[in-house]
Amino acid sequence: MTLGFGVVGTGAIGREHINRITNKLSGGKIVAVTDVNQESAKQTVEQYQLDAIIYPDDKALIADENVDAVLVTSWGPAHEATVLAAIEAGKYVFCEKPLATTAEGCMRIVEAEMRHGKKLVQVGFMRRYDSGYVQLKQAIDKGFIGEPLMIHAAHRNPTVDPRYTTDMAVVDTLIHEIDVLHWLVNDDYKSVQVVFPKKTRNALEHLRDPQVFIIETKGGIVINVEVFVNCRYGYDIQCEVVGEEGIVKLPEPAGISFRKDVTLGTKILTDWKDRFIDAYDVEIQDFINSIQKTGEPKGPDAWDGYIAALTADVCVKAQQTGEKEDITLEERPAFYRKNAVCEAVVKN
Ligand code: NAP
Repeated sequence: MTLGFGVVGTGAIGREHINRITNKLSGGKIVAVTDVNQESAKQTVEQYQLDAIIYPDDKALIADENVDAVLVTSWGPAHEATVLAAIEAGKYVFCEKPLATTAEGCMRIVEAEMRHGKKLVQVGFMRRYDSGYVQLKQAIDKGFIGEPLMIHAAHRNPTVDPRYTTDMAVVDTLIHEIDVLHWLVNDDYKSVQVVFPKKTRNALEHLRDPQVFIIETKGGIVINVEVFVNCRYGYDIQCEVVGEEGIVKLPEPAGISFRKDVTLGTKILTDWKDRFIDAYDVEIQDFINSIQKTGEPKGPDAWDGYIAALTADVCVKAQQTGEKEDITLEERPAFYRKNAVCEAVVKN
């Protein structure tokens, strides 16, 4: 069966997902779209020559019987209401991050999904589908480096929009590390402290940049993540896990090496879309395949959305207080206990 997608939000990532479902992946079809900007929805249908109905809003789109799955790519504050309405109608949901802008909002989604009785929701944390992170997880799970003790990670962007604020370093940037790092070492977060090194002269007045997040897990692993969004030289994601018996490190993205101008080098990417382009393809294909094979999505779930939102809230608080702040998660319900999810991806 072909999975019929209804897309809510035809902005940048909405169009990218529409393109990949229509032109790159198999098993899915865009049957409906909506956007608060109806002109954008219309242009998208024309641009990708979609055989899709343009709806005035998400409620009407969700009610379409040909919509099996709702792709939520509107702006963050609108996500919760759309996801709740889709669950209410028993539709599958692929929701770009954030699942909701607050931990309470994520919890409302968790409760609605549990009431429904079956997993319907996947959150767009695509790093779990990046082949580098998958290789790291395989090595850690097999005990290749023994017990993980520390993680050194960095998230660097060459530059950011002038409207980017200090807290966005958490909710827009660190959020991907927040999701992928606890998954990597199969542990829960316990506390976070934020340290601000000397500020770069390349950051605008209102922005504190760089920042270092020191996160402790319940198992005692200490994670430091540097977020540096005016690093100038490129888009660079680093992750090194130090274990009792050795170290594993994220591979560098593939690229030709060159000898030129008395230099031996490799180009560094500048755009996050290029760095994770394959991971986006794999995550959406996995969403389609899992639903078709098992009746449930297997990717990052609503509980992962809750963990990310709650942890992000505490990280923002830690930015403001400078203190070590506790991360206190609710107990994981049995419904979400087995995240078979990315285990399937890791095995492949
Ligand atoms: P964008 O280009 O601004 O697109 C958002 C679109 O949704 C806009 O067309 C917006 O219309 C529309 N919209 C806003 N509220 C809506 C509503 N209530 N119903 C229907 N449409 C609505 O933003 P984007 O970059 O595509 O980001 C969209 C989401 O994806 C964000 O939550 C973002 O965090 C997430 N994202 C995730 C990743 C990732 O790496 N996983 C990467 C990029 C983005 P107007 O322009 O008229 O407001």
